[in-house]
Parts: sequence; C-alpha cells; structure tokens
Amino acid sequence: MRKSVLSVCTLALLAGGLWTIAVALEGAEEMATLRADVEAAQGHDEVDVARAVLSAAQITSFSQNLEFCGYLGFDGAGTLRSSQVVRGMVDECSPLWPDDLEVVASWHTHAAYDTGAWSEVPTVIDIEADEDEGIDGYVATPGGRFWFVDTETMEVVQLCDRGACVPVDAAYVAGSEGDVWQSYTYQELLDREAAQ
Ligand SMILES: [Zn+2]
Repeated sequence: MRKSVLSVCTLALLAGGLWTIAVALEGAEEMATLRADVEAAQGHDEVDVARAVLSAAQITSFSQNLEFCGYLGFDGAGTLRSSQVVRGMVDECSPLWPDDLEVVASWHTHAAYDTGAWSEVPTVIDIEADEDEGIDGYVATPGGRFWFVDTETMEVVQLCDRGACVPVDAAYVAGSEGDVWQSYTYQELLDREAAQ
C-alpha cells in the first residue's frame, strides 16, 4: 500500500516535472519566434519599425504576462533596427544598451491586461528613463494603444488608438481606466498617477 502511494507520488512529481519542461519549451519557442520577428523588423522610418517590433512583442507579452523591451537604433549601414529583445517582469523591463547601434529610442510593452493595473498610458518612470538616456520611446499597451514618448517636448502622444495598429489583449476591458487622453504632458502624467 505504502509502496503504491509512493509510486503515485513519484508519478505525480514526474508528470509535474514534464509539464514544467513542456511549458519552458513552449516559452522558448515563443521567444525564438519573437526574436526572429523583431530582428526582421527594420527600415528607415522610426515609427514603422517601432510599430512592427511592438506588434511582434505584444503577442508574447500577453501570453506570458511579462513586459518585453529593447532599443531602436541605427546600425553601421544606416538601417534602423532593434537591439536584443529583453524579457522583463510583469511591470518593468530594463533593456540592454547595444554597442553596435546608434540608439534613438527605447521600446517596451505593458504585459497582459490586469484589472488592478494602470497600463494604458506610459508612466512617469517611462518618460523619465528615456529623458535620462537622451532618447525618445515607444510603448504598446494591453488595450492596443501605441504611444510615442517625446522627451524633447516632455509629453506622451498616442500614435494609434485602441487596436488601430498594434494587437489588443483578448482579455482587455475597454474603459476600465476611464478616459485615456490623446496626449499627456509630463505634469499631466504626474497628476494622473497621483490620482490613482
Ligand atoms: Zn511602461
């Protein structure tokens, strides 16, 4: 009896281990696809490249509920491309500065839809991080908003409204954060976050 109980436990552990490995492999496959898609997105128009990179990253960002990030910069041939894709945490991501690109902007996703999170607008930290590095930024949200973080004017501007040009998380509930403006100045971002 004891032996058979142990066997069941052993089988359960084994099954659990195999399941974990299967999930890890699925994640690895997704990451490989994401890296290939991001690498393929290149060109000369900054907004086009940012949108293509973020569109690819959105899918994996939703399924894994993690932020993904990188930098956009010009390579030696003058082509705009993304640096290595970094998988971050649920609410933060720190890209790796590329030595082989002349960086112009950062990009990151805001993971999957979460009723308790404020994800539809770039944060004060987002714009401050870009300003510190002397670059601009691009952000995609669970609701499918595509934002430009302009550190010259210190404001964030929606380049595309919900789902108009980047994928939307299927779980996203429209209107859950109230009104989302077309743009926010740095001060308006501070005020918005203070009211949360
Ligand atoms: Zn952000």
